[in-house]
Parts: sequence; C-alpha cells; structure tokens
Amino acid sequence: MWPWKAAYSEVPQVRDIARAIVLLTDECGHYIRTETSATGSFSFDWTPAGCELGQITVYSVTDTDKVGVGRWNNGPIASASELTNLSADYRAYSYSRTFDIDDAQDGLNLGTITVPQSSDAARGFFIMNNMRDALAYYNAMPGVAKSELPKINVEHTEGLKPANVSCNEAGWGDLLGFNFYSFGIDPGFIHIPWDCADFGFDSHAHVHETVHYFHRHFLRENPSYNQFGEGMSNAHAALILGSGWMSTAGPGLLENLDVNSRQACWDGQSWASRIDTFDDHADCLESGDTPGFPQAAAWDPNLANQGWLPRIVYDLSTAAGDEDLTRFIVAGQSPGGCGGACEFGQFDTVSGNTQALDDVLIQYLGGDAANGENPNYVDRGLDGLDLTDLLDGFICRGHATSSEVEAIAATAMGLDYDGSGAPSDCAHPSD
Ligand SMILES: [Zn+2]
Repeated sequence: MWPWKAAYSEVPQVRDIARAIVLLTDECGHYIRTETSATGSFSFDWTPAGCELGQITVYSVTDTDKVGVGRWNNGPIASASELTNLSADYRAYSYSRTFDIDDAQDGLNLGTITVPQSSDAARGFFIMNNMRDALAYYNAMPGVAKSELPKINVEHTEGLKPANVSCNEAGWGDLLGFNFYSFGIDPGFIHIPWDCADFGFDSHAHVHETVHYFHRHFLRENPSYNQFGEGMSNAHAALILGSGWMSTAGPGLLENLDVNSRQACWDGQSWASRIDTFDDHADCLESGDTPGFPQAAAWDPNLANQGWLPRIVYDLSTAAGDEDLTRFIVAGQSPGGCGGACEFGQFDTVSGNTQALDDVLIQYLGGDAANGENPNYVDRGLDGLDLTDLLDGFICRGHATSSEVEAIAATAMGLDYDGSGAPSDCAHPSD
C-alpha cells in the first residue's frame, strides 16, 4: 500500500542509558549513588574491605532530566482512577550486575553492560530515553525554561489488568488499553499500556504523549484530546523523532504523514469501502475493483473519521515539494476518468522546519508558562485552538504565505480555509 501505509517492523537498537541513577551496594553496607553520564558511563570512589560481593544497579529514573519510569506496585486495577502520583505506589525498572569484591581491590572495569531486550528493564530504559529526548526538544524551544517542564512520570506495567476483565470492558476498552497523558493524576503522568496493547517499544507512542503534556503546560489553552490535540501530537511526535511515518495506523502498520489522503476501494460507482489494511487492499483487487486515493476532504464522512491536520502540519514543517502522492480523485470523479482535474502537482511549496512550527506554538498559540499570551492572537475557525489558528500563525508569523498555505490546506485537501483572513501582523511582545 505504499506510499500510504507500510508494514511495521521492529529494529532493535542499542542506546546508552544516559543520566540514570546508578547505585553501588556491597555486603559491607556501602550504598553509593550517582548518575550515569550522557553516554551511559559511570565510576565510583569506594574502598571495598572485608566483604565478598558488590552490586551495581541502574534504575529507570533520572534526576538531571526529570524523568521516572516505573511499574505500578499494587496489583491489577479496574480503572485509571486508581492510579496515583505517590512514588511509593511505583517501582522503577532496574538492571543489576554482581561482582566479586576481590576482583575490585585494584580497580575493576566492568566493561560495557548491555541490557537485553528480553529483560523488562529494557522497556524502562527505552521509555526513559524517549522521554529525555522529548524533554530535550521542548527545553530547546525558545520561551521554554527547564524549570517550567514538570517531571515526567511514566507508568508501564505488565499485569495491570485484572485477569477476569476483558480488553474491551469499560476502564480497559476505553482508556487503560491506550496510551494517555493525565494531568489529573500528576502534571507529568503518562500511561504506556502493556496488557491488551503492548506499546513498550513504540517510540512514536511515547513521544506522542509528551506532546499532550507540552500542550497542557505551554499553550494558551489545553486542546485536550480533540482533533487539534491528537493531530498535533501525531505530527509533532513524528517531527521530534525525525520520521514521517507514524505508528497509529493500526496493528502492524505505519502510516505516512506525507500522503494527504486515505485509500479507498472504487467499485465502479462510488467509494465502496475504506482500505485500512493489506487484506482490505487485496480484497478490493480480488473483487475486480480499484484501490484509489480520494482527495482528502472530498472523502465520504462514512469512510473517514479523522482530519488531515497532522499531514498539513507535516508539510508546513518539512522541506518543500517531493510529495509522495500528487494525484487525488476529486469529488464526483472516478479513478478511471479523472484526468487533469486530479493532477495536483507539487502543492507543498513551503520550505518549512520545526523551528517555524515551534515559533507558532510559542509566540502565537503559547501561554503563560512560555512567553505569555500573544495579544494579537485572533480566534478564527472553531471556538478555541484549531487548525485555522495554527495556519493563521504560520502566515502572520511570516513562515508561509497565505497562497502557500492554501495550496496545501485548500487546494490539495479541499478544506474551507481562507488564508486572506489571517491576522496580517501578530508580533509577540517578546519578539
Ligand atoms: Zn493522543
């Protein structure tokens, strides 16, 4: 189904366990604590005497970068309201190495210790690493101070679901089986599920949740889990990770943020069904029908339930041109007879970057924790933050012209967006 979707495959990586708490203990009662370096190294000043074994333990907690990843300690739960922000209710992931103290009399080099992926601790360290990367990204945004970034506390627990509860029951089917960020539990609380849906090694899902956290703390209002909040979380997570493929396309699939349409099956009369999987695609061909890409906004509402916000944000925040798909079937046309009406050419003429997106988020849509609200903000579109406000920001902050934005949002996507109505000037007092 390229260029739209691709099969998900997991590539094991080796990453340094950076800035993690590491503890040296021995049978003589020593208890010495430090943090690993940015490259995962550590050393201790310590005088072993009179005991046999020492132990090094690394934990999925970091003080320097304000991240902790732990398991829930109190057994299965039926709903998220049972989760707390009490550290006593969680246990960090950890990995230990024991050594003979006799070997350490004249200094001991343990060499490189690799945590195998099969160890649960690998999950804790991988999640912590993704959270650190996301925090480093936010911390580098103009107007974001490290002191304003609350500590991120991630819960990732096998066996959190009671054995007698099914994955589609209330509590699990509507929430705990999904990744979520919950300010109500803690300003930095993130749940990464393991039971029902295992997201322990899905970096896109991890970073996606941090974007919700970022919105809650730094935008002029919290967009919550609406189309703006979800679309932005998908797009920004992809940009932070440097990949245009997002992992929210369904089991075993990745979806390309640079394809401004979804695939459907044309039965000769109409778009008969949406194509979401390789099986759907094969079924369409076997029936003698034609897979095609209807223009985004011309899509039948019965066939699509998501907007195109992440794709627009992606186009505005990456290099111009090189669209993976430039031909969409516009409303009222068929795949066989559309001709020139369906050829869009290179509609993305914006040479964007993530700095432009971040400037719009902080200096146009930002709130008090960043540089304060912009007095020249105009709420167009729907009430509150939405795609229109974001597009207006790209124009009035000087990152794209209204015709460039319209080429993406209106011409290619068919959305009813009028760039000429954006504020012409939206300088921020801190500019
Ligand atoms: Zn989300």
